Amino acid sequence: MTPPYEGQVAVVTGGSSGIGLATARLLLEQGARVAICARGEGRLMDVAAVLKRDFGADRVLAQAFSVLEPAANQAFASAVEQSLGKCDLLVNNAGQGRISTFADTTDEDWRAELDLKLFSQIHPIRAFLPLLTEASGAIVVVNSLLAYQPEPHMVCTSSARAAVQSLVKSLSVELAPKVRVNAVLMGLIGSGQWTRRFAEREDKSVSREDWYADLARRKGIPLGRLGDPAEAAAAIAFLGSRAASYITGAQLDVSGGLARFM
Ligand code: NDP
Repeated sequence: MTPPYEGQVAVVTGGSSGIGLATARLLLEQGARVAICARGEGRLMDVAAVLKRDFGADRVLAQAFSVLEPAANQAFASAVEQSLGKCDLLVNNAGQGRISTFADTTDEDWRAELDLKLFSQIHPIRAFLPLLTEASGAIVVVNSLLAYQPEPHMVCTSSARAAVQSLVKSLSVELAPKVRVNAVLMGLIGSGQWTRRFAEREDKSVSREDWYADLARRKGIPLGRLGDPAEAAAAIAFLGSRAASYITGAQLDVSGGLARFM
Protein backbone atom coordinates (compact mmCIF):
# COMPACT_ATOMS: atom_id res chain seq x y z
CA MET A 1 0.00 0.00 0.00
CA THR A 2 1.30 3.49 -0.85
CA PRO A 3 2.12 5.51 2.31
CA PRO A 4 -0.49 8.31 2.73
CA TYR A 5 2.03 11.15 2.39
CA GLU A 6 4.19 9.65 -0.39
CA GLY A 7 5.38 12.46 -2.68
CA GLN A 8 4.05 15.20 -0.38
CA VAL A 9 5.76 18.03 1.46
CA ALA A 10 4.70 19.08 4.96
CA VAL A 11 5.75 22.01 7.13
CA VAL A 12 5.48 21.73 10.91
CA THR A 13 6.04 24.82 13.03
CA GLY A 14 7.40 24.16 16.50
CA GLY A 15 8.82 20.88 15.23
CA SER A 16 11.66 20.53 17.73
CA SER A 17 9.62 19.14 20.65
CA GLY A 18 6.43 17.46 21.83
CA ILE A 19 3.45 17.37 19.49
CA GLY A 20 5.31 19.08 16.62
CA LEU A 21 8.22 16.65 16.73
CA ALA A 22 5.90 13.62 16.96
CA THR A 23 3.97 14.99 13.95
CA ALA A 24 7.14 15.55 11.89
CA ARG A 25 8.27 12.00 12.66
CA LEU A 26 4.88 10.47 11.79
CA LEU A 27 4.62 12.39 8.50
CA LEU A 28 8.13 11.23 7.58
CA GLU A 29 7.13 7.64 8.42
CA GLN A 30 4.11 8.12 6.15
CA GLY A 31 6.26 9.17 3.20
CA ALA A 32 6.39 12.99 3.36
CA ARG A 33 9.39 15.27 3.10
CA VAL A 34 9.19 17.58 6.10
CA ALA A 35 10.34 21.08 7.03
CA ILE A 36 10.41 22.09 10.70
CA CYS A 37 11.13 25.32 12.53
CA ALA A 38 11.53 26.54 16.12
CA ARG A 39 13.32 29.44 17.83
CA GLY A 40 16.00 27.47 19.68
CA GLU A 41 18.59 26.56 17.07
CA GLY A 42 20.54 24.01 19.16
CA ARG A 43 17.59 21.74 19.95
CA LEU A 44 16.15 22.13 16.43
CA MET A 45 19.40 21.11 14.75
CA ASP A 46 19.85 18.15 17.13
CA VAL A 47 16.35 16.94 16.32
CA ALA A 48 16.88 17.52 12.58
CA ALA A 49 20.10 15.48 12.69
CA VAL A 50 18.21 12.52 14.20
CA LEU A 51 15.39 12.80 11.66
CA LYS A 52 17.89 13.03 8.78
CA ARG A 53 19.70 9.95 10.11
CA ASP A 54 16.41 8.02 10.36
CA PHE A 55 14.73 9.18 7.13
CA GLY A 56 17.44 10.63 4.85
CA ALA A 57 19.04 14.08 4.69
CA ASP A 58 17.15 15.07 1.53
CA ARG A 59 13.78 14.58 3.27
CA VAL A 60 14.30 17.00 6.18
CA LEU A 61 14.72 20.78 6.26
CA ALA A 62 15.13 22.77 9.49
CA GLN A 63 15.27 26.53 9.97
CA ALA A 64 15.51 28.39 13.30
CA PHE A 65 13.30 31.45 13.71
CA SER A 66 10.22 32.72 15.54
CA VAL A 67 6.92 32.33 13.71
CA LEU A 68 6.09 35.79 15.05
CA GLU A 69 8.57 37.33 12.57
CA PRO A 70 6.79 37.81 9.22
CA ALA A 71 9.95 38.13 7.09
CA ALA A 72 11.42 34.95 8.61
CA ASN A 73 8.24 33.03 7.68
CA GLN A 74 8.54 34.29 4.10
CA ALA A 75 12.20 33.23 4.00
CA PHE A 76 11.20 29.79 5.32
CA ALA A 77 8.54 29.42 2.61
CA SER A 78 11.15 30.34 -0.04
CA ALA A 79 13.60 27.80 1.42
CA VAL A 80 10.89 25.09 1.40
CA GLU A 81 10.02 25.87 -2.22
CA GLN A 82 13.67 25.87 -3.25
CA SER A 83 14.69 22.69 -1.39
CA LEU A 84 11.50 20.62 -1.37
CA GLY A 85 9.68 22.11 -4.37
CA LYS A 86 6.20 22.71 -2.90
CA CYS A 87 4.04 22.57 0.23
CA ASP A 88 1.01 20.28 0.59
CA LEU A 89 0.47 20.64 4.33
CA LEU A 90 1.10 23.35 6.90
CA VAL A 91 0.80 22.29 10.55
CA ASN A 92 0.63 25.40 12.72
CA ASN A 93 1.73 24.03 16.06
CA ALA A 94 4.32 26.44 17.52
CA GLY A 95 3.45 27.98 20.86
CA GLN A 96 2.74 27.40 24.52
CA GLY A 97 0.06 28.17 27.11
CA ARG A 98 0.12 30.89 29.78
CA ILE A 99 -1.07 30.23 33.32
CA SER A 100 -2.67 33.34 34.83
CA THR A 101 -6.01 34.48 36.22
CA PHE A 102 -7.73 37.74 35.25
CA ALA A 103 -6.39 39.35 38.45
CA ASP A 104 -2.76 38.62 37.66
CA THR A 105 -2.76 39.14 33.88
CA THR A 106 -1.36 42.52 32.87
CA ASP A 107 -2.26 44.36 29.67
CA GLU A 108 1.17 43.45 28.38
CA ASP A 109 0.51 39.74 29.08
CA TRP A 110 -2.84 39.93 27.27
CA ARG A 111 -1.20 41.53 24.22
CA ALA A 112 1.65 39.00 24.21
CA GLU A 113 -0.74 36.06 24.43
CA LEU A 114 -3.12 37.32 21.73
CA ASP A 115 -0.10 38.12 19.58
CA LEU A 116 1.38 34.64 20.02
CA LYS A 117 -1.81 32.69 19.42
CA LEU A 118 -3.10 34.73 16.45
CA PHE A 119 0.11 35.65 14.66
CA SER A 120 1.59 32.15 15.03
CA GLN A 121 -1.28 31.27 12.68
CA ILE A 122 -1.44 34.40 10.52
CA HIS A 123 2.24 34.77 9.58
CA PRO A 124 2.91 31.16 8.48
CA ILE A 125 -0.43 30.97 6.64
CA ARG A 126 0.35 34.19 4.71
CA ALA A 127 3.82 32.94 3.83
CA PHE A 128 2.75 29.46 2.70
CA LEU A 129 -0.61 30.29 1.12
CA PRO A 130 0.68 30.61 -2.48
CA LEU A 131 2.35 27.18 -2.24
CA LEU A 132 -0.63 25.63 -0.48
CA THR A 133 -3.02 27.02 -3.09
CA GLU A 134 -0.85 25.72 -5.92
CA ALA A 135 -0.79 22.26 -4.33
CA SER A 136 -4.50 22.26 -3.31
CA GLY A 137 -3.14 21.62 0.13
CA ALA A 138 -4.29 21.68 3.74
CA ILE A 139 -3.70 23.58 6.96
CA VAL A 140 -4.00 21.90 10.35
CA VAL A 141 -4.18 24.26 13.30
CA VAL A 142 -3.04 22.86 16.63
CA ASN A 143 -5.49 24.43 19.05
CA SER A 144 -6.74 23.63 22.52
CA LEU A 145 -9.87 22.42 24.25
CA LEU A 146 -9.65 25.75 26.08
CA ALA A 147 -11.26 27.36 23.01
CA TYR A 148 -14.57 25.77 24.06
CA GLN A 149 -13.87 24.92 27.71
CA PRO A 150 -12.15 28.01 29.10
CA GLU A 151 -10.23 27.70 32.38
CA PRO A 152 -10.15 30.71 34.75
CA HIS A 153 -6.51 29.97 35.63
CA MET A 154 -5.60 30.26 31.92
CA VAL A 155 -7.83 33.21 31.13
CA CYS A 156 -5.90 34.85 28.29
CA THR A 157 -4.85 31.57 26.67
CA SER A 158 -8.49 30.43 26.71
CA SER A 159 -9.68 33.68 25.11
CA ALA A 160 -6.96 33.58 22.48
CA ARG A 161 -7.74 29.92 21.70
CA ALA A 162 -11.39 30.83 21.03
CA ALA A 163 -10.22 33.57 18.65
CA VAL A 164 -8.06 31.06 16.79
CA GLN A 165 -11.05 28.75 16.39
CA SER A 166 -12.99 31.63 14.84
CA LEU A 167 -10.10 32.22 12.45
CA VAL A 168 -10.16 28.54 11.44
CA LYS A 169 -13.86 28.77 10.58
CA SER A 170 -13.45 31.96 8.51
CA LEU A 171 -10.41 30.63 6.67
CA SER A 172 -12.09 27.32 5.89
CA VAL A 173 -14.63 29.28 3.85
CA GLU A 174 -12.32 31.91 2.34
CA LEU A 175 -9.66 29.42 1.25
CA ALA A 176 -12.11 26.82 -0.12
CA PRO A 177 -12.17 25.00 -2.44
CA LYS A 178 -8.40 25.08 -2.88
CA VAL A 179 -7.10 24.77 0.69
CA ARG A 180 -8.72 22.83 3.53
CA VAL A 181 -8.41 24.24 7.05
CA ASN A 182 -9.09 22.15 10.17
CA ALA A 183 -8.20 22.24 13.86
CA VAL A 184 -7.19 19.71 16.45
CA LEU A 185 -8.25 20.59 20.00
CA MET A 186 -5.69 19.26 22.44
CA GLY A 187 -6.64 18.27 25.96
CA LEU A 188 -3.66 17.38 28.13
CA ILE A 189 -0.84 15.93 26.06
CA GLY A 190 2.28 14.79 27.89
CA SER A 191 4.77 16.89 25.97
CA GLY A 192 7.17 19.78 26.59
CA GLN A 193 4.70 21.97 28.49
CA TRP A 194 3.85 19.27 31.03
CA THR A 195 7.48 18.16 31.30
CA ARG A 196 8.33 21.73 32.35
CA ARG A 197 5.44 21.88 34.85
CA PHE A 198 6.49 18.48 36.26
CA ALA A 199 10.05 19.78 36.71
CA GLU A 200 8.64 22.72 38.70
CA ARG A 201 6.48 20.51 41.01
CA GLU A 202 6.58 21.34 44.72
CA ASP A 203 7.22 17.81 45.98
CA LYS A 204 10.31 16.65 44.10
CA SER A 205 9.98 13.12 45.53
CA VAL A 206 6.87 12.46 43.37
CA SER A 207 7.69 10.40 40.26
CA ARG A 208 6.67 11.52 36.80
CA GLU A 209 4.30 8.56 36.49
CA ASP A 210 2.53 9.37 39.79
CA TRP A 211 2.43 13.11 39.05
CA TYR A 212 0.83 12.52 35.62
CA ALA A 213 -1.64 9.96 37.07
CA ASP A 214 -2.66 12.41 39.80
CA LEU A 215 -3.04 15.20 37.24
CA ALA A 216 -5.32 13.01 35.08
CA ARG A 217 -7.37 12.13 38.18
CA ARG A 218 -7.70 15.76 39.30
CA LYS A 219 -8.71 16.89 35.81
CA GLY A 220 -11.25 14.03 35.54
CA ILE A 221 -9.97 12.72 32.20
CA PRO A 222 -12.31 9.81 31.35
CA LEU A 223 -9.55 7.75 29.71
CA GLY A 224 -7.58 8.18 32.95
CA ARG A 225 -4.28 9.47 31.56
CA LEU A 226 -2.59 12.23 29.60
CA GLY A 227 -2.36 11.82 25.84
CA ASP A 228 0.87 10.88 24.14
CA PRO A 229 2.31 13.29 21.52
CA ALA A 230 2.10 10.42 19.00
CA GLU A 231 -1.67 10.23 19.60
CA ALA A 232 -1.97 13.96 18.88
CA ALA A 233 0.18 13.52 15.77
CA ALA A 234 -2.14 10.77 14.46
CA ALA A 235 -5.12 13.18 14.48
CA ILE A 236 -3.08 15.93 12.81
CA ALA A 237 -1.82 13.55 10.11
CA PHE A 238 -5.35 12.33 9.42
CA LEU A 239 -6.83 15.83 8.99
CA GLY A 240 -3.95 16.83 6.73
CA SER A 241 -4.18 13.74 4.54
CA ARG A 242 -6.16 12.85 1.44
CA ALA A 243 -8.29 10.58 3.66
CA ALA A 244 -9.84 13.82 4.98
CA SER A 245 -10.38 15.30 1.50
CA TYR A 246 -14.03 16.28 2.20
CA ILE A 247 -13.35 17.73 5.64
CA THR A 248 -12.80 21.45 6.14
CA GLY A 249 -13.69 23.86 8.95
CA ALA A 250 -13.84 20.92 11.35
CA GLN A 251 -12.33 20.34 14.76
CA LEU A 252 -11.24 17.07 16.27
CA ASP A 253 -10.64 16.89 19.99
CA VAL A 254 -7.80 14.76 21.29
CA SER A 255 -8.60 14.92 24.97
CA GLY A 256 -9.30 11.42 26.27
CA GLY A 257 -12.96 12.37 26.70
CA LEU A 258 -12.29 15.59 28.63
CA ALA A 259 -14.35 17.61 26.11
CA ARG A 260 -17.79 18.15 27.70
CA PHE A 261 -19.35 20.25 24.93
CA MET A 262 -21.59 18.68 22.29
P1 NDP B 1 6.42 21.91 23.43
O1 NDP B 1 6.89 22.92 24.40
O2 NDP B 1 6.84 20.49 23.62
O3 NDP B 1 6.79 22.35 21.95
C1 NDP B 1 6.54 23.64 21.48
C2 NDP B 1 7.32 23.84 20.19
O4 NDP B 1 7.01 25.13 19.67
C3 NDP B 1 8.83 23.80 20.39
O5 NDP B 1 9.43 23.24 19.24
C4 NDP B 1 9.18 25.28 20.51
O6 NDP B 1 10.55 25.48 20.24
C5 NDP B 1 8.24 25.86 19.45
N1 NDP B 1 7.93 27.28 19.57
C6 NDP B 1 7.37 27.94 20.62
N2 NDP B 1 7.21 29.24 20.32
C7 NDP B 1 7.68 29.40 19.06
C8 NDP B 1 7.78 30.52 18.19
N3 NDP B 1 7.39 31.74 18.55
N4 NDP B 1 8.28 30.33 16.95
C9 NDP B 1 8.68 29.09 16.53
N5 NDP B 1 8.61 27.99 17.32
C10 NDP B 1 8.11 28.17 18.56
O7 NDP B 1 4.83 22.05 23.47
P2 NDP B 1 3.64 21.08 23.07
O8 NDP B 1 4.07 20.05 22.11
O9 NDP B 1 2.96 20.70 24.30
O10 NDP B 1 2.66 22.13 22.36
C11 NDP B 1 2.49 22.24 20.96
C12 NDP B 1 1.26 23.11 20.71
O11 NDP B 1 0.11 22.48 21.29
C13 NDP B 1 1.36 24.50 21.35
O12 NDP B 1 0.78 25.45 20.50
C14 NDP B 1 0.53 24.33 22.62
O13 NDP B 1 0.04 25.53 23.12
C15 NDP B 1 -0.57 23.40 22.11
N6 NDP B 1 -1.26 22.70 23.19
C16 NDP B 1 -0.62 21.77 23.94
C17 NDP B 1 -1.27 21.12 24.97
C18 NDP B 1 -0.60 20.09 25.82
O14 NDP B 1 -1.24 19.59 26.77
N7 NDP B 1 0.64 19.73 25.55
C19 NDP B 1 -2.67 21.45 25.29
C20 NDP B 1 -3.26 22.44 24.43
C21 NDP B 1 -2.57 23.03 23.41
P3 NDP B 1 11.34 26.81 20.75
O15 NDP B 1 10.96 27.01 22.18
O16 NDP B 1 12.78 26.47 20.56
O17 NDP B 1 10.89 27.89 19.86
